[in-house]
Amino acid sequence: MPNQKTSAYYKEPGPKLDRESPFESMMERFRFAAELLELDEGMFQYLASPVKQVIVSVPVIMDSGEIEVFEGYRVIHDNVLGPSKGGIRYAPDVNIDEVKALAAWMTWKCAVVNVPFGGAKGGVRCNPKELSRMELERLTRRYTSNMLEVFGPDRDIPAPDMNTNEQTMAWIMDTYSMNVHRTETAVVTGKPTLLGGSQGRKEATGRGVVTVTLAALNKLAILPNKCTVAVQGFGNVGSISAKLMYELGAKVIAVSDISGGYYNENGIDIPAAIQYSKRNNNSLEGFPEAESISNAELLQLKCDVLIPAAKEDQISKQNADNIQARIIAEGANGPVTANADTILEDNGVMVVPDILANAGGVTVSYFEWVQDRQGYFWTEERVNRRLNRMMRDAFDNLFQLSEQHNITLRQAAYVYAIDKVAKTLKMRGIYA
Ligand code: GLU
Repeated sequence: MPNQKTSAYYKEPGPKLDRESPFESMMERFRFAAELLELDEGMFQYLASPVKQVIVSVPVIMDSGEIEVFEGYRVIHDNVLGPSKGGIRYAPDVNIDEVKALAAWMTWKCAVVNVPFGGAKGGVRCNPKELSRMELERLTRRYTSNMLEVFGPDRDIPAPDMNTNEQTMAWIMDTYSMNVHRTETAVVTGKPTLLGGSQGRKEATGRGVVTVTLAALNKLAILPNKCTVAVQGFGNVGSISAKLMYELGAKVIAVSDISGGYYNENGIDIPAAIQYSKRNNNSLEGFPEAESISNAELLQLKCDVLIPAAKEDQISKQNADNIQARIIAEGANGPVTANADTILEDNGVMVVPDILANAGGVTVSYFEWVQDRQGYFWTEERVNRRLNRMMRDAFDNLFQLSEQHNITLRQAAYVYAIDKVAKTLKMRGIYA
């Protein structure tokens, strides 16, 4: 229960909107954990406020010769546990509120898997599908040069996120390096292996999703080769999660991308779907041997495991009651809104929260940063072994905490992460 001193701050959950703001969704979970931990007012305020929010204009000379100006963001939520870490997304609707929420999620995510980083996130408001490769390069380089004071291997380390990839990271690394007059590989992770990237980084998020899914299946005594899976989103995270579950003998009954959902009750041949999408301009449109369904229908299929790996706010109070999966492993950040949490809990759905389920990416980012700084590179086998161990340990830890306090895995994740960051902050103290 909250004590007198703290309760004033917890009584402002804001209006319950149908479409929730990602920041408000994050704050609702944060408030719950803060209450349980009896976090004092000052600490609550500290951890609720990002340490830095930067908005820049990113002018780009388009291929047509005209200038177009984009808006770029970087939010550092905190750097208590170490330099801040988090991806950069390119999307037409990215905004400061979303980036703030995603930055805070990175703080809790790093704490959950015991990676010594704080949390950050960045973005550029643009439609990457409408930009040529040269325009994307100029945009990335100008965004990076506007962020030279923010980024740094001991300060703030970006990584890929929605619509950014190894090539984007290579441009960031090169722009930063040119400006500091030395090759600084550790300034960014998710790079191509030729430029100091880590083996297994590209697959890491999906691999981590599968590690915790197996741990969750085990708790429900379901064998992986006897389970059915539906995966929303067929980007890096969704396709790798689907592929690894398929290789373990699971029946992946549905997959989807922005072109829609594809359902086959006998199971989809995932390697064939990956091939098809690659050949078809990264789209599953027209994928044969499957029935067309909508993304909304996919979420409501009867299956053992649902992996939402597309974007935020997919399962809200509107559809939470219709979810038939026994386990939800959140491949995306924030696919379940705070309002949906209680409905899923009441219906006995086990939710493996994003800040645990998709933490495999940042875990191997940490390995990449370590390797770059050491100048010594690991085999893929070593990367995967260490990744599996860290994800498994984090799952076991949170599972135990959730049983001990009779709370959900998500609540346990927030309680563990916030407690860890708050304790570290107390030890460091406030610099005056
Ligand atoms: N963008 C990824 C995430 O949301 C990876 C971040 C990183 O590796 O720094 O977790």
